[in-house]
Amino acid sequence: MSSNAERVPVLITGGGLAGLTASLFLSSHGVESILVDKHPGPSPQGRARGINVRTMEIYRAFGIAEAVYEAGKPFENDKGGVHCQSLAGEWRWLFRLGATASYDEYSAGRLCLADQSTVEPVLSAAAQARGAEQRFNTELVSFTETADGVHAVTKDRATGEEYRIHADYLIAADGNRGTIREQLGIRRDGPGILGDFLGVLFEADLSELIPERAVMWFVVKPGGPPGFLTTTAHPGRWAAAFSYDAAVDTPADFTQQRLTPMLHELLGRDDIPVKVVDVTPWQQVAAVAERFRQGRVFLAGDSAHVWPPAGGYGANTGVQDAHNLAWKLAAVLKGWATPALLDSYEPERRPLAKEFVDITINRQESRTSSDPEEEANSDIRWMFGQRYTSPAILGRPYESAFTQDHHPVPEPGHRAPHLWLTHNGDRLALHDLVSTGLLLLTGPQGDDWRRAATELAERSGIPLTAHRIGTDLLDPENQWPTRYALPEGAVLIRPDGYLAWRTESDANPHDQLSAALEQLLRA
Ligand SMILES: Cc1cc2nc3c(=O)[nH]c(=O)nc-3n(C[C@H](O)[C@H](O)[C@H](O)COP(=O)(O)OP(=O)(O)OC[C@H]3O[C@@H](n4cnc5c(N)ncnc54)[C@H](O)[C@@H]3O)c2cc1C
Repeated sequence: MSSNAERVPVLITGGGLAGLTASLFLSSHGVESILVDKHPGPSPQGRARGINVRTMEIYRAFGIAEAVYEAGKPFENDKGGVHCQSLAGEWRWLFRLGATASYDEYSAGRLCLADQSTVEPVLSAAAQARGAEQRFNTELVSFTETADGVHAVTKDRATGEEYRIHADYLIAADGNRGTIREQLGIRRDGPGILGDFLGVLFEADLSELIPERAVMWFVVKPGGPPGFLTTTAHPGRWAAAFSYDAAVDTPADFTQQRLTPMLHELLGRDDIPVKVVDVTPWQQVAAVAERFRQGRVFLAGDSAHVWPPAGGYGANTGVQDAHNLAWKLAAVLKGWATPALLDSYEPERRPLAKEFVDITINRQESRTSSDPEEEANSDIRWMFGQRYTSPAILGRPYESAFTQDHHPVPEPGHRAPHLWLTHNGDRLALHDLVSTGLLLLTGPQGDDWRRAATELAERSGIPLTAHRIGTDLLDPENQWPTRYALPEGAVLIRPDGYLAWRTESDANPHDQLSAALEQLLRA
């Protein structure tokens, strides 16, 4: 083992979507990090499908949306979810993405159907281009957490060489089966293991069976276990999933010979040649860690919470964990907030994770029942209606982590309602302006607020920008008066796009803003 420990502000364990986005967001904030992942690169299994509109809105703000949409091009014609007894049987569309994919009124983001295997390389490249260090084929072997940091031992799996890293903070993005959570003694609540599945990548010419591409086919025969089929980025390659009894079989038992009739059953045709390319087991688990933080270690993504994939909230929630955490770590490491800000991570992210367990289990059960209902679109509420109660929100507490309906709420704790704006003739969305600093918004008469914000930012080093809507930024659709209902006063938006504070009075802007920043960042 090398004797000298490398120093880094943040060590990230796990190069899945949660870890890679943490790496990207931190590097965008100018915070150095090292990411380690024990695998040499992304899994060939596509896994997470569907980057939701809220996540795409975030990617847009960080300047990578176009690259992500490009990665999603092979999936552009995937239309929605189909329920059937076999691919050759009758199809029933449970949801159609064509009808629900546009959320123009809520966000500038557009749904992207890229899978995990196509998006991970984009995120990795973008983070490295911004200075992030990423070491694949490198395992976190052990760590200890002390008052002055996290002392970790990593191993290069190619050479067997071990290295010591001393980090101020560790992000545990090591997935559902990661061991950091257990090493910290953090248990999980929830239903637990729901089933064992095999992900089977196979090649076949399904053109006769598939006149129209879906995102997912839920293949349900009355009384039998459900099977799933989804598209991949490669023409002629498909991903199926079957449940299996792990007490009876191991994944290695599922040879080409054994899988061929299973795939034929799923297809409803036994005359189509199928070639198995990869078999990967995965466990469907529904559980939420009892704590998302211990000292200097933060759990993010599947390490913190897991639930059934129905709805596509697994990976998206992991990315949004990283988004929530990255600006707070940056603020503390750069000295414009005290470490107390980090106390807000768990109270903001854990309650909604707990609610997602039931939401996704219900959705999964409905989709795999023999007679499912067509789905009402609740996604707007689940994507944009997440709301926080925490020390980093200067507002009233909420009982539920979601709004009551899909209407945006301009109150502290909610995602800032979307606005279409123009600047120098260019159309932009409010959330395009939110990535690495705080934003103060006022109506067109907010000169005193702008002066106060500029003065406070210069004096304190807090990255704070003020905009008067209707003056600095034009509001061509006149959305500000109805969406923010703020004839006087101001709102303060955090770098993760959430409203931190709101005042409806123009009295003493400097004093009001100074007190709000103090409470938010220096608690
Ligand atoms: C079949 C399937 C379909 C899904 N579909 C969707 C979907 O449509 N939409 C959606 O949002 N979600 C979906 N999900 C869920 C989604 O895949 C996960 O929520 C997401 O991948 C979790 O990302 P993560 O970064 O938290 O963890 P992971 O992607 O599991 O990454 C964890 C990483 O940590 C690494 N690691 C672990 N331990 C160590 C160690 N000691 N040292 C170094 N590295 C380590 C692993 O190698 C791994 O790369 C699906 C899941 C499955 C299984």
